[in-house]
Amino acid sequence: MGPTVIPAPLPATLPVLGTNARFPLRRVFCVGRNYAAHAREMGHSDKEAPFFFTKPADAVIYPADGVIPYPPATNDLHHEVELVVALKSGGASIPPEQALSHVYGVAVGVDLTRRDLQAEAKKAARPWDMAKGFDASGPVGLLVPYSAETLADEAIIALDVDGETRQQGSLADMIWPLADIISALSFLVTLAPGDVIFTGTPEGVGPVARGQRVSARLDGVPSLSFVLE
Ligand code: MN
Repeated sequence: MGPTVIPAPLPATLPVLGTNARFPLRRVFCVGRNYAAHAREMGHSDKEAPFFFTKPADAVIYPADGVIPYPPATNDLHHEVELVVALKSGGASIPPEQALSHVYGVAVGVDLTRRDLQAEAKKAARPWDMAKGFDASGPVGLLVPYSAETLADEAIIALDVDGETRQQGSLADMIWPLADIISALSFLVTLAPGDVIFTGTPEGVGPVARGQRVSARLDGVPSLSFVLE
């Protein structure tokens, strides 16, 4: 390849527990409605299969300074705490029993959502991109290299706003467990190293205001804390 006409953008990266080397991000996929109680709170049946949407790779950031900018164009920013999985390898049509062998690491993250823009988009049958894929919309904590022992089957996932618990669930409540999500996505796109998946949120999503502190927790990985400014 010859020289580029403008400087090539650097890839977005995430820090990894226990090393100075960083994880390079390729694409960011997100699962909708993967916990039955959250599907119900959003007005949907808990029997519906989860579905996928995306965020830009550089929307995913580790808030090293503990701050996330409150985004423009919304008066109803919502938190969605999620298990985030980062892939070291990929492929197409991956069977569920092979899916976890492609996982590099896991972390806790927050799928920040401009719920007012999402509601307008849903009403007009328009895409969700501007509700989900804005700058810094995917804060993620330190990645933990994955092994079978990293995450307990019933690991608790939770989120506090200013010290008050707003969301709490168990990974056991996922409609599609991790292996099934990776497998299902690989039947839609060819997965690749650097791809990241937000795996859906338990019930209790709600607004977070400018100046409030969000703390996201998942058993087995470091917590994530930031203030919206
Ligand atoms: Mn979500």
